[in-house]
Amino acid sequence: MSSDPPHRPLPYAPRSDAGPSRTPPPDPAALLAWYDRHRRTLPWRAPPGGRPEPYHVWLSEIMLQQTTVAAVGPYFRDFVARWPTVRDLAAADLDAVLHAWAGLGYYARARNLHACARAVCARHDGRFPEDEAALRALPGVGEYTAAAIAAIAFDRPATIVDGNVERVIARVFAATEPLPGAKPALRALARTLTPAARPGDYAQAIMDLGATVCTPRRPKCILCPWADACAARRAGIAEALPARADKAPRPTRRALAFWATDAAGSVLLRRRPERGLLGGMMEVPSTPWREGAVPDLAEAAAAAPGPAAWRLLPGAVRHTFTHFHLELTVAAGRLTGAPTGPGALWVPVEALGDYALPTVMKKVARHAAAHAVLAAAGGPGLVL
Ligand code: SF4
Repeated sequence: MSSDPPHRPLPYAPRSDAGPSRTPPPDPAALLAWYDRHRRTLPWRAPPGGRPEPYHVWLSEIMLQQTTVAAVGPYFRDFVARWPTVRDLAAADLDAVLHAWAGLGYYARARNLHACARAVCARHDGRFPEDEAALRALPGVGEYTAAAIAAIAFDRPATIVDGNVERVIARVFAATEPLPGAKPALRALARTLTPAARPGDYAQAIMDLGATVCTPRRPKCILCPWADACAARRAGIAEALPARADKAPRPTRRALAFWATDAAGSVLLRRRPERGLLGGMMEVPSTPWREGAVPDLAEAAAAAPGPAAWRLLPGAVRHTFTHFHLELTVAAGRLTGAPTGPGALWVPVEALGDYALPTVMKKVARHAAAHAVLAAAGGPGLVL
């Protein structure tokens, strides 16, 4: 608690350390004892008493950023089956890695994953470094991931703070300041609990507690090893924590996507720019993704990948990214001339699965396939 900045009001209800109602502090040993009985079995986790494999810890932590354990499991197993070591991953073709990653989203992470594997081989002879500073110097390894690898893989006393840990800490200390502003204070509080003994198990224990007992809704306080120490439980405010500042609503961007085919039935794809959203992934050509109405005919004509009698397919493809919703209207047509624009590539429909298509583009392909008859027979018309 002494780590709070000076002159800043405490973001949590202070404990009363005097008198018979004194609240005991949360005891890391009690949490570790709970973990020894109730730890989750996870594909990347070492068995009790076993040595964690740093490659598995790193891979799982990158995959788990902003997605769930259930979603990551099949991807993790597939990656370690294809590339059993960090050296194998470093030697892999980037397109193969992006392809295997497709569906997990956040493709910049897959690119960094590959770059990081190469850096571990080039700088550290294929072994992950143990200290946080050296880990943070690797591509795609930020403060959280460096702490997770240091703690879990190497049993260093690093403090991991993810969403589960923030929730547990906010509740145990009844910290009422809303997120995201409360992050530094919650991190400082979390640091006060990190033990010198078994810090790696402790890090996994507090994450497991957040995932299975101290859940966002209806926390199972009766099963919690920190129930006696929990200020939010005592105050009856556990479910209201952590508080969150109101979020700005997600805007909707719209565009016209072109499902362009040739006489052989191949589909025209192009590669997105290396940097930015879905960097380096394949897509069908489209007008720019912008807020507002679907582009008018003039803009659509300028963005079309070549001459064709385009037909608008009914409905739209919808996809949600972190910061916006996307609504793609799809125009289908057979090109009657050479494709325009850089990086165009004809791909047989049956070979689409071999390319690193992001989820939104797979939706476009399914949408086009679902309306193939309509597209061939003609529907609501748009001729560019
Ligand atoms: S007592 Fe309840 S609210 Fe407090 S940490 Fe445990 S599960 Fe969470």
